[in-house]
Amino acid sequence: MIVAETIADVKKYVKEWKKNGETIGLVPTMGYLHEGHASLIKKAREQNDRVVVSDFVNPTQFGPNEDLEQYPRDFEADKKLCAGLGADLIFHPTPEEMYGKDHFTKVHVDTLTAGLCGAVRPVHFDGVCTVVTKLFHIAEADRAYFGQKDAQQLAVVKRMVHDLNYNIEIVGCPIVREADGLAKSSRNTYLSPEERKAAVILSASLKEGKKAIDAGEKDLKKITDIITKKLETEPLARIDYVSAVDFNLLQPKDRLDGEETLIAIAVYIGKTREIDNIIVR
Ligand code: AMP
Repeated sequence: MIVAETIADVKKYVKEWKKNGETIGLVPTMGYLHEGHASLIKKAREQNDRVVVSDFVNPTQFGPNEDLEQYPRDFEADKKLCAGLGADLIFHPTPEEMYGKDHFTKVHVDTLTAGLCGAVRPVHFDGVCTVVTKLFHIAEADRAYFGQKDAQQLAVVKRMVHDLNYNIEIVGCPIVREADGLAKSSRNTYLSPEERKAAVILSASLKEGKKAIDAGEKDLKKITDIITKKLETEPLARIDYVSAVDFNLLQPKDRLDGEETLIAIAVYIGKTREIDNIIVR
């Protein structure tokens, strides 16, 4: 597996591959890789001749009071995991390499970024859209892989690709969970043992919501109330939002219909902000 630290290096390999008519699958990550990331890399491996994994804690998607410095990093372990899964190249740039001294351009997706996580993380999605745009171009990717874990991100990136006519296919991948249901996340390492136990309330509350849906409930206010009540049973949990939106423009909706509905939650467990969701028809 090639380890590349510069944009020029990645472009050099990509140019060769493209000359041979090979397809390229890109998996953008912030590193500290786990089985959730692995599922994306495996999918990319199945569908493309070449697989590029980017491993970059992107500073522009963190707000001033967020966990940029604290964010966990272990590049040696990431390299092993990627090599073991048959990735062709891991791209591990510094912030200076990605942004240089003079970077004036941002990609902004409107409307879809106003609610959910965007409401408390105002700079986040501009940072995401800008960095993934750069990565799409650097890797000349034919496909890029994103987890449903970050459902708003997936919807925003799909919209950006649609609106700006990027020549790339966005592949969404299901949420990979721990045995007790907690969605795998690099940020789970912030949880104390007691908080880790409490964090299961996220997936448990969504399960209660799903049970009501399976029993025929279509009123989304009733469904989000069931989820909220369950979350409120956990003393260590503080709700940021429990929302039901359409999984296209991410606008609030009242009833389940034929279209995909995203039921998304964000909950503080102690100081750690955790997210989870289900998508239902
Ligand atoms: P991150 O490194 O947290 O920025 O995540 C990189 C990519 O992995 C994003 O597309 C995430 O949605 C995806 N991802 C993270 N955790 C999971 C998970 N538990 N299951 C599936 N995909 C995930």
